Amino acid sequence: MLKRRSLIKAMAATGFGGTLIAALPGCSLPKVPMLGEMGAKTRKAGEPAHVVVIGGGFGGASVAKYLKRFDSSVNVTLIEPKQNYMTCPGSNWYLAGLVDAKFITHNYDALKTKHGVSVIHSMVTKVSPSAMQVTLKDGRVLDYDRLVVSPGIDFNYDAIEGYSEANINDIPHAYQAGPQTEILYKQLREMPQGGTFVMCPPGNPFRCPPGPYERASMVADFFKRENPTAKIVILDAKEKFSKQGLFQEGWAQLYGDMIEWIPASSGGKVLRVDAATKTVFTDFGEHKADVLNIIPPQKAGKIAFTAGLTNEKGWCPINQKTFESTIHPNIHVIGDSSISGKMPKSGHSAASQGKMCAAAIVSLLNGKDVPVGKNVNTCYSLVSADYGISVAAVYVLNAEGQIVGVKDAGGVSPKGADTAFRLMEAKYADGWYKAIAMDLWKS
Ligand SMILES: Cc1cc2nc3c(=O)[nH]c(=O)nc-3n(C[C@H](O)[C@H](O)[C@H](O)COP(=O)(O)OP(=O)(O)OC[C@H]3O[C@@H](n4cnc5c(N)ncnc54)[C@H](O)[C@@H]3O)c2cc1C
Repeated sequence: MLKRRSLIKAMAATGFGGTLIAALPGCSLPKVPMLGEMGAKTRKAGEPAHVVVIGGGFGGASVAKYLKRFDSSVNVTLIEPKQNYMTCPGSNWYLAGLVDAKFITHNYDALKTKHGVSVIHSMVTKVSPSAMQVTLKDGRVLDYDRLVVSPGIDFNYDAIEGYSEANINDIPHAYQAGPQTEILYKQLREMPQGGTFVMCPPGNPFRCPPGPYERASMVADFFKRENPTAKIVILDAKEKFSKQGLFQEGWAQLYGDMIEWIPASSGGKVLRVDAATKTVFTDFGEHKADVLNIIPPQKAGKIAFTAGLTNEKGWCPINQKTFESTIHPNIHVIGDSSISGKMPKSGHSAASQGKMCAAAIVSLLNGKDVPVGKNVNTCYSLVSADYGISVAAVYVLNAEGQIVGVKDAGGVSPKGADTAFRLMEAKYADGWYKAIAMDLWKS
């Protein structure tokens, strides 16, 4: 009789891995010992390992694809509820009307058919680190030899009085792309002429440090064409923000006084919100919005909490060389949920970590030394359709095992650059998006 693990491999090769696993609810695989940096186990010769990946976003899609690329004998099962994943990168461009929803939406066909990843469209509801099993929403139980957790972010809904999950469809955060993005898109188009768009970004750390400011830029780009007397007020929980000088230079040049940015010390910190009237209250008074976009403080994705992978601050501590959790062995955490040293919470970071994590897992499974590579991040933002700015960095592991930036590698766009330079960076932004989407979901 074929072993279940061999069957999974055979079915994955024909694209039916998910179906097979579905047919074997609760069926347990014999545990294959493995060699782990935390001294866990060693793998039996010739036995294929099973790696389960939670989440098919930037981190999860990357680790799933590159696990198969680095060792095609490893069985990889990706669990992701969405059939079609809309990326946050590019979602601000969509709000401006520069790209359509299709441009930023991807499916898992290439991962299944070109790379032999078994994709199951479901949610993981439970992780049992000691049993090395995950439970899906429909009750199916999967064994793993290594688990990768890349669930993105969740929100601290209790952080602002009056703000809750119950009112996000009236005041969308649009910080997980999909239905929330569509709501904000519609609200911006229905806003009265001369109305006010109020955006409230959170304190650090949060997903995509330049994200809110690119969004303000893209909303201004749209308003300039469709609603030229409208106003944008940014009530910020911080004193400064990513690429601030570059954004503000672009705003002054392109949008005059349309965008007003108010730091925390000048009344930017939101204390209370009345969702019904779209009014926010700060120490310095109140602001009434026509469209209100509160981006609440964030924490690791929900399953990271359920699995017991988070610290007191709500993020997942890891060994920054292998991305293995320092709380539970054999579980790796990548992307926004992880504490990955100095790397920002970005799609590019998550994709880079996915590749490094895949290399680490394949090495651990095969009893080899984990390679020490370099991580990268590039973050392009559009200030208008033909005005781009960027920040880039290279990261290494230091002697203390922390991911840190390499001095003088990377940098930010120059201030005072001419229009040709900004146009070139806008084209690079488009190229960056197409390249990373091609790498993770299309090729
Ligand atoms: C407006 C905006 C603009 C941005 N622009 C950029 C940019 O230009 N460049 C850039 O690099 N980054 C950008 N980002 C940041 C980027 O979107 C995130 O950093 C990136 O998506 C993180 O990847 P991840 O894999 O950690 O999470 P995600 O990409 O969010 O993927 C997580 C996935 O896990 C799934 N999931 C969650 N829980 C479970 C579960 N229990 N079971 C199964 N699946 C689960 C979710 O459905 C989701 O698909 C932007 C973000 C925003 C909000």
